[in-house]
Amino acid sequence: MMRRNIPVTMLISSEYPLSMQVDDVAGRMILDKLKSNGLTVRTGIDAVAFEGDGNVREAHLSDGSILPCDRVIVGKGVRPAVGFIPTDRIPVDLGVLVNTNLQTGIPGIYAAGDVAECTDRVRQRPWINAIWPEAVMQGRIAGMNMAGRPVSYPGSLGRNVIRIFDLNVMTAGIVNPENDGPYQTFSRIQPRIPVYRKFVLKDNRLVGFILINRIETGGNLVSLIQRQLPLTDSDMGLLKTI
Ligand SMILES: Cc1cc2nc3c(=O)[nH]c(=O)nc-3n(C[C@H](O)[C@H](O)[C@H](O)COP(=O)(O)OP(=O)(O)OC[C@H]3O[C@@H](n4cnc5c(N)ncnc54)[C@H](O)[C@@H]3O)c2cc1C
Repeated sequence: MMRRNIPVTMLISSEYPLSMQVDDVAGRMILDKLKSNGLTVRTGIDAVAFEGDGNVREAHLSDGSILPCDRVIVGKGVRPAVGFIPTDRIPVDLGVLVNTNLQTGIPGIYAAGDVAECTDRVRQRPWINAIWPEAVMQGRIAGMNMAGRPVSYPGSLGRNVIRIFDLNVMTAGIVNPENDGPYQTFSRIQPRIPVYRKFVLKDNRLVGFILINRIETGGNLVSLIQRQLPLTDSDMGLLKTI
């Protein structure tokens, strides 16, 4: 829309974009990139109502102000459509709860994809990672179990690659660990290039990362998380040079 010279205002509840996928350092780099390319961004604010007569004319915001507009695009995350499921018989949390064979609480009924709440590999608790590769893998594994071959799903891993103007952003796993948790993090920023790296480890294993620009090594890092191999001193040395 900006390329068509349509003025755009982005409203974000949090203090920076993609707050579920990046930390505050990466978030502010993304915010600066959006603003420096001419986007008006307002943080810490929500649209609470839209007014119009057939067409939207204004958005009412949580600080009491009114923003005139004639188009609204809503991008507020993913929530499974579980309204049709009899929750008295099939346990549902945010999504349909499944065991490691992707079977729901009722024998013979399976769930896979965005609707299924499986174990997250690095969080080790039920989680929805609503991305295509996990949906594909879950579909295959649910299918094999339905066909009588018992196969376990190793758990899902959230990951995301996005290009914001000329900023390449790749993230995976846990990127905002609790301060008092069992995690170790190290990060490096080179603001002028700009490059940013953050690695999160637990028990000497990689459980999450953020890469801003020069993201070519991201696939190997995802594989390291998935395989949960303990890192040697030389692996750690390599991580620090990425
Ligand atoms: C804007 C957007 C961008 C995305 N980009 C990426 C990306 O870059 N990379 C990535 O990995 N993933 C991406 N995803 C996520 C990816 O599309 C999903 O993970 C994937 O489509 C999940 O597949 P699925 O089959 O589980 O669900 P869906 O593709 O949502 O399919 C579910 C189907 O079930 C139908 N349905 C729902 N309720 C009922 C009902 N009661 N009866 C009958 N049918 C019903 C729906 O109409 C739909 O056709 C993106 C998603 C969105 C919305």
